[in-house]
Amino acid sequence: MSNRYVWPFSEADGKNKELLGGKGANLAVMTGIGLPIPWGFTVSTEACADYYEKNEVISAEIEAQIYANLLELEKITGKTFGDPINPLLVSVRSGARASMPGMMDTILNLGLNDEVAAGLTISTDNERFVCDSYRRFIQMFSDVVMGIDKSKFDAIFEFEKKSTGAELDTELTADNLKDVIKMYKALYYGEKKSSFPTDPKLQLIESIKAVFRSWNNERAVSYRRIYQIPDDWGTAVTIQEMVFGNMGDDSGTGVAFTRNPSTGENKLFGEFLINAQGEDVVAGIRTPLAIVELKVIMPEVYEEFVSIANKLEDHFRDMQDMEFTIEKGKLFMLQTRNGKRTAAAALKIAIDLVSEGMINEEDAIAMVQPEQLDQLLHQGFDKIALKNANVIAKGLPASPGAATGIICFNAQDVDKLVKAGASKVILVRSETSPEDIEGMHSATGILTGRGGMTSHAAVVARQMGRCCIAGCSEINIFEKEKYFLDSKNNKYSEGDYISLNGSTGYLYDGEIATVDATVTEDFLTLMKWADEVRTLGIYANADTPEDARRAREFGAEGIGLCRSEHMFFDKKRISAIREMILARTEMQRKRALDKLLPMQRGDFEGLFKEMDGLPVIIRLLDPPLHEFLPTEQVDIEELAVEMEIPLFELKQIITKLKEFNPLMGHRGCRLAVTYPEIAEMQTRAVIEAAINMSREGIKVIPEIMIPLIGDEKELKYVKSIVVNTATNLLLTSEFDIHYKVGTMIEIPRAAIIADILAEYAEFFSFGTNDMTQFVFGYSRDDADKFLFDYYKKGIFDKNPFEKLDQIGVGSMMKMAVALGRRTRPDIELGICGEHGGDPSSIEFCNSIGLDYVSCSPFRVPIARLAAAQAVINSRK
Ligand code: PEP
Ligand code: MG
Repeated sequence: MSNRYVWPFSEADGKNKELLGGKGANLAVMTGIGLPIPWGFTVSTEACADYYEKNEVISAEIEAQIYANLLELEKITGKTFGDPINPLLVSVRSGARASMPGMMDTILNLGLNDEVAAGLTISTDNERFVCDSYRRFIQMFSDVVMGIDKSKFDAIFEFEKKSTGAELDTELTADNLKDVIKMYKALYYGEKKSSFPTDPKLQLIESIKAVFRSWNNERAVSYRRIYQIPDDWGTAVTIQEMVFGNMGDDSGTGVAFTRNPSTGENKLFGEFLINAQGEDVVAGIRTPLAIVELKVIMPEVYEEFVSIANKLEDHFRDMQDMEFTIEKGKLFMLQTRNGKRTAAAALKIAIDLVSEGMINEEDAIAMVQPEQLDQLLHQGFDKIALKNANVIAKGLPASPGAATGIICFNAQDVDKLVKAGASKVILVRSETSPEDIEGMHSATGILTGRGGMTSHAAVVARQMGRCCIAGCSEINIFEKEKYFLDSKNNKYSEGDYISLNGSTGYLYDGEIATVDATVTEDFLTLMKWADEVRTLGIYANADTPEDARRAREFGAEGIGLCRSEHMFFDKKRISAIREMILARTEMQRKRALDKLLPMQRGDFEGLFKEMDGLPVIIRLLDPPLHEFLPTEQVDIEELAVEMEIPLFELKQIITKLKEFNPLMGHRGCRLAVTYPEIAEMQTRAVIEAAINMSREGIKVIPEIMIPLIGDEKELKYVKSIVVNTATNLLLTSEFDIHYKVGTMIEIPRAAIIADILAEYAEFFSFGTNDMTQFVFGYSRDDADKFLFDYYKKGIFDKNPFEKLDQIGVGSMMKMAVALGRRTRPDIELGICGEHGGDPSSIEFCNSIGLDYVSCSPFRVPIARLAAAQAVINSRK
């Protein structure tokens, strides 16, 4: 039986986004509920997969289905493809399962050639419109399908505007546009050594192929990497009868949201342009009008639009982002999708929809992306610092938050600067394009000179949670020359500091201190709902009392990992730990440990105090040795003096301790085996801190975790040091402090023998950073150097150090859970690798029955929400 690859909107299943892409599925829905949409059909994602399977060829079978549907479209519209008298023109648009705004390609006005254009001029009696559509088509087809640089066409267009004195594109006459078309064709000929293709069917098939290919263009691949969209989904292609917003002043095109995507306010929000087409609104070609202006210009169209917007929101039970075109006073809906929104808007919309009775609390939990909560934890400016700040200009408040940093005029350079160690970089562009996506992601803030609230910069920045000011026309940007001038002609060059307030649109001179975000009522409400649903505990990885306090404020229910070695990186402490590691006599080592004990005890007291009544899992020392060995000559000299040994001797010791592969070297429990004094000192510090804090009325729940165990005898040995030390201390204490001893499961062998380890361990915590390293055999310090090639070549679509490899590492975990519970049914199970803060990994942890996940403090709210979503998804 042959497969069906092409679906007319009227026959397609509006629920099947996997097959039809979001755009195709929603067009089917809109057709079903009787909205005014241009007729058309969708070439499915299966056709895209087939195209790639056949080495970028559209099979005869699929081509035949496309033509059969085209024929139907001709019948429905009463127009004929390629017919000069009554031509059918179509749009060809991408549409993946998840919306990827602006990442893939679109071709409009397809089906035009000289003959068709001449015929259309007669039938519409609108030569300017036809020439405008034709020049757009030549440019889009040449760029998207034939790969000719778009900027070459833009240069011709700008040249024509300049030489005719036109300020706006709409001021160009039909004759001017004919000149443009001539020059475009000449450019095409020069580039391709052949004439611009005139056969509409060929134009169509080549355009569909180009849209399929655009799934793999660089910006789409980058977008997928950032938003974790699988590479194998592919895109569908929708083919629709063209409707024209560029037919004159009774026509136009626009983009609107049913609610405000920045704040969530329940009020129509959007922009439109009269006599314009396609991307004009988002590309910032002219300054668009606010959607309410449509009420004045075309009141009936506005009323109809409002009623459609309400209908769509009721149907999808979510805020909609809609594109529309008005052709000679008649409204057409081109697409609708659930709108991208800021985190603040996401929360407000979800909570409002519950109070409006449209959805229930679980729907609300499911509709907020956990990752987005990050934005809420964003900074604002310090109020006092802001009082003294100097406003240079005002633009559109496109994406909220505050950002301060050095100016950079090129997206690639932002990446380089960040990689070279710059922590705060502001990307300044005339306007951004999808090519800039990676730089925008790396930037702290984004400032553009052109474009509105739905411009590329605004939409993308909002979604990423980057602070952004768009359309800041009060400054003059010279991208190539790498400077901008404000209205008083003050010059700001690359490397100078500026600050942006993305919530007000104000641009400031210099660096302004920022403050952390404050938690809102909406945030607390959603978190409360999430906590009622989730079953996983949420702990935090925290090494300092400040981290612990923040984690607790964010809702952490314990500390899942205190990396005790992180307490030694302080300048004063590092020399003590170096002394300890480099000591060659008992005396030297004891002296160093005596220095460390009070520091450690103080650290732990701080943690216990902050986490009063909650468990605190303290891990014994686990540094890769090289992180502690001194490398700078001055440090070595200072240490030699401190240790009272000759410099050459110290250098010899250091050389001896160097390892070829420190990540597989003398770290974790191996250090405790060599230097049991360390484990003893640390246990003493934990227990003494616990006793001291108990005296202050604090309820302490200490758990001591032994890292990098691969054999039960290692665990037995280190545990005996811990237990002996603790028992001696507790014998003379007035408090009966209960403490647990457990182990990390991070070496594959530990997972394999988890039943044996569970005889000694009261808890397991999965160290999936090391587990990933050892299961794949990739050094966690170096893997990024080659993983990029893996993404490029489609071998991986995600970094296994960020998203848990559920098949490989996940199997190890499942096995350890089963074996551990077999020996010790009440064994406490958690995860403290970085994956503990990643939503899809959290879902996996929920599914294998862990008791808790532990993540960095700022990710605690994300984990709470993800854990609730995991429960909801598991019920489905
Ligand atoms: C781990 O390996 O996952 C872990 C939490 O320990 P670390 O990152 O400190 O090696
Ligand atoms: Mg580890």
